Amino acid sequence: MDVARAEHPHTLPTGSPSLTVPIQPLRVTALAGGVGAARFLRGLLLHARERGLPLDVTVVGNTADDLTISGLRVCPDLDTVMYTLGGGVEERQGWGRTEETFTVAEELRAYGRGRDWFTLGDRDVATHVVRTALLAEGRTPTQVTAALCERWQPGVRLLPMSDDPVETHVVLDGTTGDGATVVHFQEWWVRLRAAVPAREFLLTGIERARPAPGVLDAVHGADVILLPPSNPVVSIGPILAVPGLRDAVRAASAPVVGVSPVIGGAPVRGMADACLAAIGVETDAMAVAGLYADLLDGWLVDLVDAPGTPPDRPVVRALPLLMTDPGAAAAIAGAALDLAATLGGPTGDATDSPTGAALLGEPR
Ligand code: GDP
Ligand code: CA
Repeated sequence: MDVARAEHPHTLPTGSPSLTVPIQPLRVTALAGGVGAARFLRGLLLHARERGLPLDVTVVGNTADDLTISGLRVCPDLDTVMYTLGGGVEERQGWGRTEETFTVAEELRAYGRGRDWFTLGDRDVATHVVRTALLAEGRTPTQVTAALCERWQPGVRLLPMSDDPVETHVVLDGTTGDGATVVHFQEWWVRLRAAVPAREFLLTGIERARPAPGVLDAVHGADVILLPPSNPVVSIGPILAVPGLRDAVRAASAPVVGVSPVIGGAPVRGMADACLAAIGVETDAMAVAGLYADLLDGWLVDLVDAPGTPPDRPVVRALPLLMTDPGAAAAIAGAALDLAATLGGPTGDATDSPTGAALLGEPR
């Protein structure tokens, strides 16, 4: 890990005020899509704050949804995480900026420019202007993301999965009416609302993509690896498809704990069911765990999805998984850390896994 780890001296609340014990922050690495991940991560930071648990969080974000609109480079998933953790997200929508206006979009329309199915708000446009300008100056996506985060202070180290361009394209079943059979993911998702069945997802550029600087270190150096409730096919899928990344997660000594984005046979929001159908996987919490079978040590499902006969691996815990507010998300994140504390990595050694519960001195 290239960032020095701070030691947090904790004064014990006992009769010996001079006694301080340095506690290493728990190193958490999370793979993240957009809204589902962002709300979970906000819960994780809230849980840590409430418990006085020092965390050192690295978030590896999906960049396969990125697109260029009116010359501006837009990274929807990175921005959703950045705005949500930085307190600037439009809460009801789950993405975009608060108190947004759309003057730029109107003006672009007057020029016959822009895309009517993907509107950028004025405040949001500023982010993309800065990003595009920094990229044009020769900075890498990793450096640009860090620069944007200087303003937002998300409380995590936010890394793109790769500095190399990767784009999810969707091969449509049938045609869109204008003859096209392969469209950019955003066109399928936003313009077509995933209503035209997808036959296949293509990740253009993935063979040549390398994990961004710091990503593999964050996986190797993690105490806990988390898979938030993100779309398993088009959010977590592209991240794990970056050559070397899935192997690194599999080989990491940290336990890997995931949270189901599917509750009671349906995605909580969005059209993940349409994505799962395209790859022949049932929209079911345990079926989603099956997509991560080679990685997963622990899996959180909703109470309605508790398996009748739980598998040995991953270890499954059932609890309410609706992130109705930051407090609910914090409870889910806390449960993920607690489960990690009871699990070892690939070696099965749980004893020296310095997870949240262990640091807090809670019984295992
Ligand atoms: P996107 O890139 O904005 O689509 O966001 P993600 O990939 O991070 O998350 C999308 C997934 O989050 C969807 O499959 C949703 O089902 C899931 N999700 C959204 N809200 C919740 C929630 O409250 N609880 C759970 N368990 N999953 C959720
Ligand atoms: Ca996304």
